Amino acid sequence: MEIELAASAGFCFGVKRAVNLAVRAAAEHPGKPIFTLGPIIHNPQVVADLERRGIHRADDPVKILAGVVIIRSHGITRQTLEALETRPEITIIDATCPFVRRAQEIVGQMAAEGYRVIIVGEDNHPEVVGLLSYGGPNRTLAVSSADDLPAELTERGNRRGGDNVALLAQTTQSFDTFRAVANRLLPHKGETRCFNTICDATSQRQNESLAIAGRSDCMIVIGGYASANTTRLEELCRGVLPNTHHIETAADLDPSWYAGARRIGVTAGASTPGWLIEAVMVTLQTGGNSKGKSG
Ligand code: SF4
Repeated sequence: MEIELAASAGFCFGVKRAVNLAVRAAAEHPGKPIFTLGPIIHNPQVVADLERRGIHRADDPVKILAGVVIIRSHGITRQTLEALETRPEITIIDATCPFVRRAQEIVGQMAAEGYRVIIVGEDNHPEVVGLLSYGGPNRTLAVSSADDLPAELTERGNRRGGDNVALLAQTTQSFDTFRAVANRLLPHKGETRCFNTICDATSQRQNESLAIAGRSDCMIVIGGYASANTTRLEELCRGVLPNTHHIETAADLDPSWYAGARRIGVTAGASTPGWLIEAVMVTLQTGGNSKGKSG
């Protein structure tokens, strides 16, 4: 039986950087309370590991009295960052992914130059909430599809449609959706500037996983059950190979899934740590069933 692990499985650059910064913060600030604003990552095993190292999750910065605050890879709102910066009792470690930071800077710069800013993304996603905060009030908008665009920006000859528009995307958006929104903006009278802020980490992982699912008899997708990107990865792979299974740890493997399989494919979401992937690989390679053991 052959087992093929996707090279792109697991932590992306931004998540790896954020987790490393958190672990380093615990080592460099012994005895100080350390918090991440929101879960640093959607993986319960990693969150539990960070808890053991004294790194706790806090959802409301106002309730943090003192200590070290780690900003996760999605970034936070400008207002929250500025409020934290006024508090000398708090040390800020900014683990905002540099790709997200670049998108925040584009929003700020374009808004300052008078552009209406359109962000292709989910308006309640923390990254988009952060991006919106860098734009001007009432001049910055998130849309999930071209249908959400205001009519004056899509109708040719609309007299209210002369605004200049800057278009960018949540880093994990699909390129097809971004292009569809850009196309719909073209007829409007003003200038349209498009900034492709999509990060390739997600599409690379999806494309590689789909290719592996296509040549496998069983596909294992590792990641937190609450992780949106892992769930999406499983859905995509299942479309190619119905014998696809989403697991959190090696303990969730069921040997009946791959009994008689000639080839097993393995991939993992962006928030899945290497040690969990390794444990699954070892269990599969030894043909074992780790049910009942901890992952
Ligand atoms: S998916 Fe891309 S933009 Fe998002 S944290 Fe990872 S590397 Fe950064």
